[in-house]
Amino acid sequence: MKALPADFRPYEWAPSTVELAARARLDPVEIVRFDGNVPPLPLPSSRPGALAAAVAEVNTYPHGGYPLIHEAIAAYANVEPENVVLGAGADDLILLCARTFAGPGDVVAVPPDPTYPLFRVAAELAGATVGDDAPALTFCCRPGNPLGDLPALPEARPLVVDEAYFEYAGESAVDLIDDGVVVIRTFSKAFALAGARIGYALAAPDTAAELRARQAPAPVSTLSVALALAALRTPPDVEPVRAERERLAAELRKLGYAPLDSHANFVFVPVAEPDELADTLLALGCVVRVTGGGVRITVRDREDDDLLLAALAGQTAATPRRTRYVRATAETALRVRLALDGAGRVRVATGAGLYDHLLEQLAFHGGLDLVVEGSGDWETGDHHTAEDAAIAFGEALDRALGDRRGIARYGSAVVPMDDALASAAVDLGGRRGAEISLAEDPGLARHALESLASAARMTLHVEATGRDPHHVAEAAHKAVGRALREAVRRDGAELPSTKGLL
Ligand code: PMP
Repeated sequence: MKALPADFRPYEWAPSTVELAARARLDPVEIVRFDGNVPPLPLPSSRPGALAAAVAEVNTYPHGGYPLIHEAIAAYANVEPENVVLGAGADDLILLCARTFAGPGDVVAVPPDPTYPLFRVAAELAGATVGDDAPALTFCCRPGNPLGDLPALPEARPLVVDEAYFEYAGESAVDLIDDGVVVIRTFSKAFALAGARIGYALAAPDTAAELRARQAPAPVSTLSVALALAALRTPPDVEPVRAERERLAAELRKLGYAPLDSHANFVFVPVAEPDELADTLLALGCVVRVTGGGVRITVRDREDDDLLLAALAGQTAATPRRTRYVRATAETALRVRLALDGAGRVRVATGAGLYDHLLEQLAFHGGLDLVVEGSGDWETGDHHTAEDAAIAFGEALDRALGDRRGIARYGSAVVPMDDALASAAVDLGGRRGAEISLAEDPGLARHALESLASAARMTLHVEATGRDPHHVAEAAHKAVGRALREAVRRDGAELPSTKGLL
C-alpha cells in the first residue's frame, strides 16, 4: 500500500440520523437536520416515474455515454456539451481535478480555514502537499462553505472553482473556462439530489477531455442521470430559500446572534462555545454543524427553521402532541408535519389541487398545524395522491395522539356553506369506521374521508347535502375539522369509555 502523509485525515461524515436520535434519546423522526446544506424535500420532478425508463434498461451500460445530459447541462450552464464532464457528485470531480493537475512533489493551494475539507483530502490523495508556494493547482470555493461568503477569485491558474452553491448566489466563473478555470457544480444542493450523487465540471474542451480520460468508464449511474435530466427540465426556483435565509438571519439577530451574510442555503453563526450549543440543540432534535468557531445552519423552510429558533430561544421544540411522518410508496412520497395543539398554520402541497385545499380546510378548522408536502403520479390522475395524502395525514394523526389518554374522544359539528350543509361526528376511541354520505362528490371526497378515518383509527360519520359538489365536499371537510378539534381536546386523564362500567 502506498503511504499517505502521516497526518492524513480522511473525509469525516456526520453521524447518521439514527445514531443522533439515540444520543438525544429521541425517535429518529424527531431529528431535524440543519447540518447537511440540502433542501428539506426532493423537487417534484424526483419521482419514481422519472426513473421508469432507466429502470427498464438498467441491465445495459450507458453505451455511447450520456449525450442527453451533456446537452441539457450545457443549455443550463450556457456552454457547449464538449465543455461538460459528469461526475458522481462535486466531490468526485474535486478528487478528479486534484489528480489531474497535481501529483507527488506538487503544491496545491486551498482556501484558508474554515473551508470545505475535501480540497485538502483531494490534494493529499493525489500525493501533493497543501501550501501556497507556486501551486500546481488552486482551489477556490464560491460561495464559501461554511461561511457563505463570495471570496475574490484568485488570479492563479489552473484554478478550480467549487460552485456547489452557485444557484443561491447567481455568480459564476463559467466565463473563465477558456482561461484556465474549471468550474465544479452539483445536483446535490439546489436540485435536491444529494443521494443520487451527480455533479458536473465545466472546462475548456481539451481540459474536459483530459479530465474524462482520467475517469472510470461510466462514472455516473443511469438512474442518477434520469433524475438529473428530469430536474433540469424545470430547474428549481431558489428565491423562496433566499427569502427564508434572510428571515432566519433576522430572527437569529433578534435572539442576540450575529449570523454572517450568506450567499448560500445556510448561515454561519460565530459562537463562543459551538459544541455546547450543538449539544443543547441536539437534545431538542435540531442538528447543526460545528465548524470554524461557530455553527453552520442549513436553511430548511419556515416550519423547520421555527423549530430551530424555538430551540435556540430555550423553548422545548418537541411538544408531545407533535409528529413528523414520511409515507413513501411506488406512487407517492409524502411528508407530514403535524401539531395537534396548533394554531391553524396549514400548508398542503401535493399537487392534488382540490384535495389539497380540502385537507387544508379540515386542518384549519381542526386548529391543527399541518404541513403535507410531496408528490405523486399525477399523470395517472389525482387518485393516488389524494388518497395517500389522506392516509398519510390519518397515520400522522394516529401517531400524534399517542396512547389517546385524556382526550375528549368525541366531537361533532354542523357547518353550513352556501347551498351545502354538513354534519360530522367523530369517535377517537380507536375503532375504524366510516359512514360518509355526500349528496354530491367532486370525485374523491368520500374516498379521502374514508381513507382518513381508517388510517387515523377513528369512527367518522358525515352527512352533507347541497347542490354544488365543491361546496358539499368543503362543508364536509370543515365539519370533520371542527368535530376533530373537539375530540382531540385534552380534558381528562383517561380515555372515556363505558367498557367495564356497563
Ligand atoms: N463542495 C462543497 C463546497 C460542498 O459543501 C459540498 C457538499 N458537502 C460538496 C462540494 C459536495 O457536493 P456533492 O454532493 O455534489 O459531492
